[in-house]
This record gives sequence, structure tokens and C-alpha cells, in this order.
Amino acid sequence: MNIILFGPPGAGKGTQSKYLVKKLNGIQISTGDMLRDEIKKNSEIGNKIINDMNDGKFVSDEVVNSLIKDVISNPKNKDRLIFDGYPRSLNQAKNLDLLLKDTNQKIDFIFFLNVNKDIIVKRIEKRKILEKRLDDDSDTILKRYDTYMETTKPTLEFYSKNSNFHEIDGSLEISQITSKIEAFLNV
Ligand code: AMP
Repeated sequence: MNIILFGPPGAGKGTQSKYLVKKLNGIQISTGDMLRDEIKKNSEIGNKIINDMNDGKFVSDEVVNSLIKDVISNPKNKDRLIFDGYPRSLNQAKNLDLLLKDTNQKIDFIFFLNVNKDIIVKRIEKRKILEKRLDDDSDTILKRYDTYMETTKPTLEFYSKNSNFHEIDGSLEISQITSKIEAFLNV
């Protein structure tokens, strides 16, 4: 089963995807984590993206698309993909479609965790204290939310037409969101 978790920063995509990975023996594909790893490794990609990431801007489609290619085409990961934070643009969504077609796969479920700006700001302020992420300061949070809303709108429209698209109230408790997801998955 391949699943996309879609939603603004702080919507709970990471938390739910970690749970689903355990439950379904899946592979979490968090482009945010992959990009942070590149920065930690001080790689060529890391040096290219560090400023954009710290400013709350999106990293180019080209970089993100190249990062996920190998994970998707690895036969060991077939039909176990849990996407967390990818795709975030129409270009990425179309790229994903092609990669899945090439590997005889499809997306089975898309869950849109919808949360308003006030809740997100409060949640990310808390995460900043726990995880010390450089892009979690108040100004950057607001910028990331606005970037998300502007850039992902066409992607949301692209997916929301599908019958496997489900919107879930992301302001609910973690366990309530999990139950809703499980009800759709029938697990
Ligand atoms: P996240 O951990 O998903 O909140 O992502 C943190 C940051 O990584 C974002 O604010 C972007 O700068 C970058 N990022 C993560 N995933 C993507 C993506 N699919 N496309 C572009 N930028 C991304």
C-alpha cells in the first residue's frame, strides 16, 4: 500500500507517518528529513539548499525529485511507501506519477491533514523547544505556512479530484487522527 500524507508544516504528517510505518511495515519518505541529512553531511546538495531551508522557502523540484528517485525504484520498497512532505508542487506530483508508473505502482490513499495557521504556530513553537530545528522560529513558521499555502494549492487541487483523497481535521488529537486514517485503510 502506498500513502501520501499531505498538509501544512505542523499538521502532524511526521507523527502519523511514523505510526503507519510501524503498523504497515512501510518506508517513510520524508523529504524534509532527507534534506536535513544532506545539510548535516555537508554535501554538495546540502550546501546548495541550506539558505532556502533556513528561510522557510521550498527547495527546488529538481533537487527533491532526484532525492526520492532511488527510494521509489528500490524493489524492496515496492508498495510500502509512506510519503511525508512530498509531493509539495504540481511538478513533484507529476514526477511521482511517472516514477510510480515506471515501477508498476500507484498511490492508494492520500490524506490531507488540514489545520489552521493559529494551531500550527502553537504546535511548531512547542516542537522548536523539543527538536531545536533552525527553521522553527516564529517568522520562519509563518513564512513556511504561507509558502505552503501558495505553492501547494495546485497540488491539492490535483489530488482532491481523486476518489482516494480524504481530508481529515488535523486539529484533532493525534490518536483521533490515527483512528480516522485506520478507518479509511481498514486496518
Ligand atoms: P518538513 O520537514 O517537511 O517540514 O520540511 C522542511 C523544509 O524542507 C521545508 O520548509 C522546505 O524548505 C524543505 N522541503 C521539504 N520537503 C520539500 C519538498 N517536497 N519540496 C520542496 N522543499 C521541501
